Amino acid sequence: MAERRGWAPETLAAHTLAGVDATSGAIVPGIAPSTTYQRDADNNYRRGAIYSRADNPGYKVAAELLAALEGGVEGLLFASGMAAATAVFLALEPGDHVIAPQVMYWALRRWLQDTASRWGLEIELVACDDLAAVAAALRPGKTKLVWLESPANPLWTISDIEAIAALAHQAGARLAVDSTVATPILTRPLLLGADIVMHSATKYLNGHSDVVAGALVTAEKDAFWARVRGNLSGVGGVLGPFEAWLLQRGMRTLPLRVKAASAGALQLAQRLGRHPHVAAVLYPGLPNFPNHAVAARQMQGGFGGMLSIRVQGGEAAAVATAARVELWQRATSLGGVESLLEHRASIEGPASPVPSDLLRLSVGLEAVDDLYDDLDRALRG
Ligand SMILES: *Cc1c(COP(=O)(O)O)cnc(C)c1O
Repeated sequence: MAERRGWAPETLAAHTLAGVDATSGAIVPGIAPSTTYQRDADNNYRRGAIYSRADNPGYKVAAELLAALEGGVEGLLFASGMAAATAVFLALEPGDHVIAPQVMYWALRRWLQDTASRWGLEIELVACDDLAAVAAALRPGKTKLVWLESPANPLWTISDIEAIAALAHQAGARLAVDSTVATPILTRPLLLGADIVMHSATKYLNGHSDVVAGALVTAEKDAFWARVRGNLSGVGGVLGPFEAWLLQRGMRTLPLRVKAASAGALQLAQRLGRHPHVAAVLYPGLPNFPNHAVAARQMQGGFGGMLSIRVQGGEAAAVATAARVELWQRATSLGGVESLLEHRASIEGPASPVPSDLLRLSVGLEAVDDLYDDLDRALRG
């Protein structure tokens, strides 16, 4: 209802859409710990909720806000980003052909290659930043899902969501987009033609590095979505009520946090590009970055808070730089208020396409000068 009023994302997030509690007048939504709900005397469940694996009222606050921000018709929360992503693949049939990016979140790539393949999905990893490569890989009638991530971890590869949605639909395939890094503040994949958008809500949506959660939003409540929805309660990867509450609380400042992190990342990318110990900066906001024009078209208001640097001197120099930072935290994950830095090849292992001299940076909300000075000192040794 609220999105029909034409509210901006800042307004939607600050307001939450949840409304005031009818009994107490509380303006902040409550936590709903009950696992079960009373059946009416006439043997119906007129109030909606039956059992919390499917229906906790506390899930609705974050799910409805995310659906409004993404411009979709329904959102679902999951116990993690992996639970959300795998619910989509588990809605396919054995034998279905799936296109996924060569550069993508490593744990999902590994799950697709190890587990989804064993269960009969034909997984093909394609350079999804190359439209001709996607077009050539699509098999009309056989390809049922194209999975994108843009910007994609940890090289921040940009895929053209609108063009790939058109190609996928022509071939009879759905398009799902992992939009964890862009967030609905910068990109709204459903409005570019995607069918489903996925988030690791652990990252920017929650934003405070204290909840593991995932989410999906759909453009349409069709039969495929019904199967995805069935995988939430059926596989059972549901979020706890306290985590759902923390998530909606974090989301209320999402627009501010994402814009601040994006502005900081752009400044750092520009300054690090001139640093004598930096061999390359990977950031979609830099004019010489591959597909920068696509990023500028499909990302509004910033290019995200994630960038990577390749350190002069190779792997040893990169690891040594990471060892010397004091303000940046050496840790995996992203999208929190505190800036994180990680030698990415160490976590992804030998099958990864990530160069060994690469440090991944998640820019938080600290002053950019402090972040730059700490990195500058660490790079100089
Ligand atoms: C973290 C992450 C995931 C996985 O999410 P979890 O919440 O850790 O399960 C998926 N995609 C991207 C882009 C991520 O950064």
